[in-house]
Amino acid sequence: MALRFKRTKESAGLLRRDDYRPPEWIVPDSALDIEIFADCFRVRATLDVARAEGSSAPLRLDGEGLRLLGLKIDGRPAAHKLDKTGLTVRIAADRARVETIVEAPLGSEQLGLFAQGGLVCTQCEPQGFRRITFFPDRPDVLSRFRTRITADAARFPILLGNGNADGAGALDGGRHWTAWDDSVPKPCYAFSVVAGDPAARRDRFVTRDGRNVELAIFSEAAEVPRSAHAMAALKAAMAWDEVNYGRVYDLDRYAIVAVPGYRFGAVEAKALNIFDSALLLGHPATSTDGELEAITALVGHEYFHNWSGNRVTIRDWFELALKEGLAVFRDQEFCAALGSPAAKRIQDVKALRAAQFVQDEGPGAHPVRPEQCETIADLYDATVYIKGAEVVRMLRTIAGPQAFGAGLDTFFARHDGTGATCDALIAAVAEHSPDRLETFDRWYANTGTPRITASLRQDGARAILTLVQDGSLPIPIGCALFGPDRKRAEKLVLLEAKRQDFVFEDVPGPLLLSINRTFSAPVQIECERTDTALHALALIDDDPVARWQALQDLAARAILGEAHTAAVIDAIARALDDHAQDPALAAEFAALPAQSRIADGLEAADPGAILRGWRAVQADIGRALAPRWRTFHAADGATGAGVRALRVLALQYLLAADVPDAGALALTDVEGSATLTERYGALRALADSDAAERPAALDLFYRRHRADPALLDKWFCAQALSLRPDTVSAAPRLLTHPDFSLAAPNRLGAIVGGFTANSGAFHHPSGRGYKFVTDVVLASDRIAPAGAARLARPLARWHRIEPVRAALMRAEVARIAGTAGISPELRKAVGAVQPSCIS
Ligand SMILES: [Zn+2]
Repeated sequence: MALRFKRTKESAGLLRRDDYRPPEWIVPDSALDIEIFADCFRVRATLDVARAEGSSAPLRLDGEGLRLLGLKIDGRPAAHKLDKTGLTVRIAADRARVETIVEAPLGSEQLGLFAQGGLVCTQCEPQGFRRITFFPDRPDVLSRFRTRITADAARFPILLGNGNADGAGALDGGRHWTAWDDSVPKPCYAFSVVAGDPAARRDRFVTRDGRNVELAIFSEAAEVPRSAHAMAALKAAMAWDEVNYGRVYDLDRYAIVAVPGYRFGAVEAKALNIFDSALLLGHPATSTDGELEAITALVGHEYFHNWSGNRVTIRDWFELALKEGLAVFRDQEFCAALGSPAAKRIQDVKALRAAQFVQDEGPGAHPVRPEQCETIADLYDATVYIKGAEVVRMLRTIAGPQAFGAGLDTFFARHDGTGATCDALIAAVAEHSPDRLETFDRWYANTGTPRITASLRQDGARAILTLVQDGSLPIPIGCALFGPDRKRAEKLVLLEAKRQDFVFEDVPGPLLLSINRTFSAPVQIECERTDTALHALALIDDDPVARWQALQDLAARAILGEAHTAAVIDAIARALDDHAQDPALAAEFAALPAQSRIADGLEAADPGAILRGWRAVQADIGRALAPRWRTFHAADGATGAGVRALRVLALQYLLAADVPDAGALALTDVEGSATLTERYGALRALADSDAAERPAALDLFYRRHRADPALLDKWFCAQALSLRPDTVSAAPRLLTHPDFSLAAPNRLGAIVGGFTANSGAFHHPSGRGYKFVTDVVLASDRIAPAGAARLARPLARWHRIEPVRAALMRAEVARIAGTAGISPELRKAVGAVQPSCIS
């Protein structure tokens, strides 16, 4: 499933991993007959159930919101106990056939089976299946499902289920049916049904063992041209998984359905994925390159779940990181293979720091495999997904790629058709790499971002690297030592003790330390390095991630006034030369660190000082390298995403440097570029500037795109993100625009989310930014509490900000906490800081 926060409500009370008990009954085969009507549905379920060995418990089936119309055990009516969350039946035999008939309305909550976006569709992960029929709704009960779907033929000409097509026909009264046979056992959360009248893009993929797989992407008819990108991504993912993981697709068809407004992002239901249209459909003219890459990643992600999720599923929801960490790791590797691997790794590192490291610092910190949670919905977050992927990556790094590959083969073979655990994955890899994984499971239990202090000392021709960690994890750290001109030594060390020395022989000094190469571990490294050392590494380090990090660190120092900008300019120029063949990577090297990232590295950040320094360094780089920026901007954007990234960056620098014709160049791009990346990139650059063309560009973009809600959101966002000093007063005025509505969550997110990400405006010394966000949060909490809570979170990070602003932030947090009737979600978002605010 895709990562989207806050999904379903579950019953109150703390859930604990330790409470796991194996199922008392299993369901090897299930047959569902689903009849869809205008506003309700009826399901006849036939479950072949079997008692687990040693169990004497009655059969318990979960069910919520269902009206039970009939129940038979082995063909006869049976006594049963029905309660709010399911039904219980005493069965004397070890096997039985359970038949139920239920009816329920097609709900509006987007759980179970419901109507949405002109379709009838399902949402079962994690616990929606219990709203379709009575069933042991837990991931470790896997069943072979056969499904028959019946509905009105005119209104629902397309009826889709999991597995292979198994017949279709007409019925009296204008109704028709289709049948589906899913021969591979799956958990019920991977069940799906779609009914409606969508259009389709069709294609095929021949697997390496000769299976001719029919592919289809369903969407509204007008959107079919925008599904080409997703179809190409799907075929690439199927081929990539065969080559890299030996995972071959196992059915004759694979379909994805785009559902407008599907709240759950995307779900990996077997052979019938369901996606929110916004996450599946895209075209270079109307989507940015980042959005298109996100589509590629998500299509791959859900496809990779066919093995790591559907065939080998999870024992219980606390093991969510098993399927999600593995799927995210695989989608990262897939996207890396399609583009620039180094740029992709850098982008993943940035995303990890922005989403997960920040979570680790706040009240929401928890292990990758939590021991307890309030709701299963709480588990769907950056730690489980993104840090979960980093943990899998370290498993591969420590074991080595060969042992990791062999271990995954063992894992898939051994656990096919069952619910597995994170420990089972480690054990399978450890069978092929026994030495170094004894304590690896600690990564799943550890909370917070580990900190490592690194120091290097010279003893004649030997160098001794001392690493000290604040925990007791096995941490793989890529290290290299550089002389003034070249690399002298490189090794991957495994830090297992609290403090450990690693010796490098025959390396006369002076030496430069390159550390956490490839970002080998998701840790914070503290390491004394002079500006001269950073500059030298930024020039010669042969690991792109470490070189980029050195340049980012150097640039951050220049922005804070602690290093000379000339060194940054020199290092950027050299990196642009060295990576001319990889423009996506060159663009990463040339971009300054985010202001929020610089603030994260400080005890008590002064966002105003960071903004001033950032703008000054940006202008200096713009002026010093102006001829290069002109050359990059003159390149043909049609050549690729990396070239487009450099074109947009070049415009930002030219505008920052006040180059006389920069505004005109940007306006031309807003007017005439073929891709949204370039049009929107130019708009963003102009929105930051005082160029005379700014109003015309905003007006042009608005008039051209006002009919497209997603593009209009971007227009609002560009203004909320503007680095100009007047944004603090301009952004609140956006809420009075006729195209704004508090009830449109995406538009609200575009403005307020953009504003809080814009640290100069949000942290305006007057405190007006904090007040604006608080006012909006309190107003929107009455309409959309989950969204309001998300928007309020930046206010709760006052403890990282200098004291004067921190006091202003705390006052606003206290205002939220002291407002009567706020939602529990909002209270939770600010709750952790409430006591100190009131004091
Ligand atoms: Zn997933």
